[in-house]
Amino acid sequence: MEKLQQRVKEDGVVIDGGILKVDSFLNHQIDPELMYEVGETIYDKYKNEGVTKVLTIEASGIAPAIMAALKFKVPCLFAKKSVPSTLTEEVYHTDIHSYTKNKTSHVVVSKRFLNEDDRVVIIDDFLANGEAALGLYNLVQQAGATCVGVGIVVEKSFQPGKQRLLDAGLDVTSLCEIAALDNGKVTLVGEGEH
Ligand code: 5GP
Repeated sequence: MEKLQQRVKEDGVVIDGGILKVDSFLNHQIDPELMYEVGETIYDKYKNEGVTKVLTIEASGIAPAIMAALKFKVPCLFAKKSVPSTLTEEVYHTDIHSYTKNKTSHVVVSKRFLNEDDRVVIIDDFLANGEAALGLYNLVQQAGATCVGVGIVVEKSFQPGKQRLLDAGLDVTSLCEIAALDNGKVTLVGEGEH
């Protein structure tokens, strides 16, 4: 996705600890046309897989996930990071550690919305160490559902997340792959090799 890659290069701000801030189009303000294209690209990859549900985690995964779900014409389900008092039914739950927030969240989805007949595409905004995606995969497994693939908006390829997902047998589609975030500069995979 060239448009996304350009946007990451132009608007991404590198902050300490190898973290990229993209709050002008993904993490705070959201560019709906760009997100629609993200959804379309993930749909194109998995459109023949009989997808019944798109699963993400609140909050920043929701924008790309809902656009993909719109294309698949299936529901978008997001794991909640806290258990609301309105969620009185049975849930699948797991712990997900976020190193960007230095915090572990206990995340839940209602058993009502995920079951063994589901064929799920997992979507998230970033892939770093793989904790979020693997946590979501854990919820899919608890439900006895099938994960047909993982769609990622921005992969930080210098971190082990991608390999961990591949090792778990998952298919991974990353729309923008970052090779390095050194000296305040974003270097994409493949950049400067031609
Ligand atoms: P992982 O679970 O793969 O270690 O990290 C992915 C999660 O952490 C994503 O849900 C995302 O919210 C957050 N994250 C990881 N790295 C970055 C980053 O460089 N920038 C932003 N904005 N979020 C990140």
